[in-house]
Amino acid sequence: MNNQSRFPILFLNPVLKQMVWGGSRLHTDFGYEPEADNLGECWGIAAHSNGDSVLKNLEFSGMTLSKLWKEKPEFFGKYDTEQFPLLIKIIDAKSDLSIQVHPDDAYAQKNENGALGKMECWYIIDCPEDAVLVAGHNAETAEELKEMVHNGKWDELIRKIPIQKGDFIQIDPGTVHAITAGCLILETQQNSDITYRLYDYGRMVDGKPRELHIRQSLDVIQVPAKSAKDSVLKTGDLPKNQLNQLISCQYYTVYKLNVSGKCSISHNESFLNMSVLEGSGIVDSISIKKGDHFIIPADYGTIELEGELEIIASDAK
Ligand code: ZN
Repeated sequence: MNNQSRFPILFLNPVLKQMVWGGSRLHTDFGYEPEADNLGECWGIAAHSNGDSVLKNLEFSGMTLSKLWKEKPEFFGKYDTEQFPLLIKIIDAKSDLSIQVHPDDAYAQKNENGALGKMECWYIIDCPEDAVLVAGHNAETAEELKEMVHNGKWDELIRKIPIQKGDFIQIDPGTVHAITAGCLILETQQNSDITYRLYDYGRMVDGKPRELHIRQSLDVIQVPAKSAKDSVLKTGDLPKNQLNQLISCQYYTVYKLNVSGKCSISHNESFLNMSVLEGSGIVDSISIKKGDHFIIPADYGTIELEGELEIIASDAK
């Protein structure tokens, strides 16, 4: 397809979410509005009833991504799902998030009015020195898990894994997990908002504890957990100017792309989500900078990029 007839790159206005655990970096580091000290999540590429990105492109001005998905399926390639399949977020945790777990598709469809389950993965944009994340647990059997949960043996149960800036972690459904204070993360996930809260450190919000979902958590937690050493991928030394695959699972493939100078990327068949985490530059003569989220349509042909850019990209299966 030549430059005149191909579909345009789709630029999106993110949806910002204020959270009790949020911070100010989504405004100060990424320039998102509003300015607030409790911005927890930027839904950069989202087509969900709890947050729907609005297109910036003049020709689709005011249209949401979920509407575009329905009205222009040719932009996205061959998908038969009613919903846009993925959700891309940047998360700023000023304090620890509650310890949680997500169901898989089968459990969510049966117990959550036909909703999708949630597979997710995290790219660590920034974190404190000696940071740890919660990923997995230490119970060997379902009985042991139940016993530890009901007796509040959280320190014994919860598995913490050390992380550094640039690490990448896949969180399967059924994995106990939590983002910790000081972490700035790009999350690529199935388009779902179903979370079961297992433990909230006994904290009070407006004078009362937040709701827990112990029964559902025990239903869906995988026992034993996946080994800790299989959980974290280091991305420090990846080659520049190419799509480096970080993970491929049944729902998505996630790539890291470090642009330095000029580069040409070829990606066809499906659409490609892109989020700029660092730097500035140009994509096919359009200026882009840190904090921008856009979608390259399916069958776009060669994508020309220029500048110094750190990008996380993804496509859907
Ligand atoms: Zn999660």
